Amino acid sequence: MIYFILSIFLLTPTLTLAQDIGLNAKLDILIKTYPNILSHHQNNMLYFKNGLSPMQIDDGRPKNHKAKLAQADIEDTLSQIYPMGPCAVPPQTNFDPGRIRSDKLMRRLYGQTKSQARRNLTSIRWFGRRVKISKKHGAAKALLAVRNDIKKKPHLRKYVRNIGGTFYWRKIAGTSRLSAHSFGIAIDINTKYAAYWRWQKNKRGGFRKARNKYPLELIAIFENHGYIWGGRWYHYDTMHFEYRPELIAIAKASNSGNACAIQ
Ligand SMILES: [Zn+2]
Repeated sequence: MIYFILSIFLLTPTLTLAQDIGLNAKLDILIKTYPNILSHHQNNMLYFKNGLSPMQIDDGRPKNHKAKLAQADIEDTLSQIYPMGPCAVPPQTNFDPGRIRSDKLMRRLYGQTKSQARRNLTSIRWFGRRVKISKKHGAAKALLAVRNDIKKKPHLRKYVRNIGGTFYWRKIAGTSRLSAHSFGIAIDINTKYAAYWRWQKNKRGGFRKARNKYPLELIAIFENHGYIWGGRWYHYDTMHFEYRPELIAIAKASNSGNACAIQ
C-alpha cells in the first residue's frame, strides 16, 4: 500500500509535465505529413525519396532563440509545440512555434529558387479575386477547404477580403531568411485588422503585446486545414497564416497542442 501511495506521488508530477511527445514521435509525424518526399529517419538523419541527399536532424549546437531562427536545423523547427483551437493563449517570451523554419527543408519542399517556387503555384478563387498558392503537399487544396468553410459563415468574410497577399519571394523584414510567402504557402488576410510586432515597437526597445482583432472561430478554420496562425507567436503577425500541416498534426498528438486546454 505504501508503495502504491508513493508511486502516485512520484508519478503525478511526471504525468502533468509530460507535454512534449519527443523528437522521434515528431519526426514520424513529419515524415507521414510529407509522404511524397520524405522517406524515414535514422541516427540523426532525415532521408528523402527521389535521390535527394539526407539532412542532419539535430546539429547538436546549443542555440538561443535568435540563433535558432537564423540557423534552424530540423530539430529546432519542431522544438516548440503549436497550440491550436478556438482559444487564445498569451505566448511566453520567444514562444514562436512555426516561425523557426529550416530554409533548406522548405526549399526542398516547395522550390529551391524563385522560379521553381513559382512553377509550383496554382491559382484559386478567393472572395472576389484570385490568389496564388503552392500546389505542393496539399497547400492549395487546404486553402480551398479553408475558403469553402469561411463561405458558410458570412460574418467572417470581411476578415478575408482585401488580403495582404500570398506568394512573394522575399526575405523577412530585418533578416536574411526567406519568408514563408516565398514558397507560396502563406496568406496575409485583411490587413485592416492586423497587428505585427515590428509595427508596435516601444521606446525601451521592446514591443507592445498583440491586440488580436480576428475572430478565433476564423483561426480555428485555418488550423483545421493545416494552416498555423502568426497570432500565436510572441513575435506576432496576426494577419499571417502558413501551411505547416506537420505542426498541426504534432499539436493534435500532444497534450500541450490544445490551446483550449492550456489556457
Ligand atoms: Zn505573412
